[in-house]
Amino acid sequence: MSTASSSAQVTEAIVVGVLALQGAFAEHIAILSRLPSQPKVVPRAVKTKDDLIQCRALIIPGGESTTIALLARLAGLLEPLREWVRSGNPTWGTCAGAILLAEAVEGTKAGGQELLGGMNVRIARNGYGSQVESFEAPLDIDGLRDPEKLFPGVFIRAPVVLSIQHPPMRPKPYILARVAADLVPVGSSDYLPDPTDDPTDPQDDRTVVALRQGRCMLTTFHPELTKDTRFHEYFIKEVVCA
Ligand code: GLN
Repeated sequence: MSTASSSAQVTEAIVVGVLALQGAFAEHIAILSRLPSQPKVVPRAVKTKDDLIQCRALIIPGGESTTIALLARLAGLLEPLREWVRSGNPTWGTCAGAILLAEAVEGTKAGGQELLGGMNVRIARNGYGSQVESFEAPLDIDGLRDPEKLFPGVFIRAPVVLSIQHPPMRPKPYILARVAADLVPVGSSDYLPDPTDDPTDPQDDRTVVALRQGRCMLTTFHPELTKDTRFHEYFIKEVVCA
């Protein structure tokens, strides 16, 4: 291989970091490694600040948001991650990662929970119930390749998006997918979403499960636990390269 062609490949590739402290980071890395999309995506496990600064985008995986935040603090990554999000770098949080991107969280362990923030949402940890209430739901997601094919939504102790705000000077939130409101357990009235607090469509009372705001995106489900690569393709094309 000539030097010229290898350096051209290096400049074209997009390095996408996956926060690799705890949770489903290996699954995200595996799916990023086999994306059919162009330009080429090179996944990188992010465990340190030096790893982070090599990346063009970041995925924060599902797992346990309290543990991820604690390990990020111990690794000296919490402030660099907050700064990363504040600076407008493309970032996608799945499940526990979605919790970390919220500005406010309910249902935390005693002593509260550290967040990165970046998305103007209030979210409830384990808002659909415990592990046994995990479920799958086919999702109709705006903007995916083959839009007529529903996306397999895998929800594991998923958080519930309670409300979405659109403060002045902040990018407008854009809803990508919702599920039927009755999937949120009726008993947990503390965790019922407030549709009137949704600046995008106050008439729609279904629960938001995928949302974009500027260069941040959250999904309360786990696309990395399916064989469907379309959500990762969407992130690269619409959030990272847009
Ligand atoms: N309930 C977990 C938390 O609070 C998230 C679960 C998941 O990522 N599958 O972090």
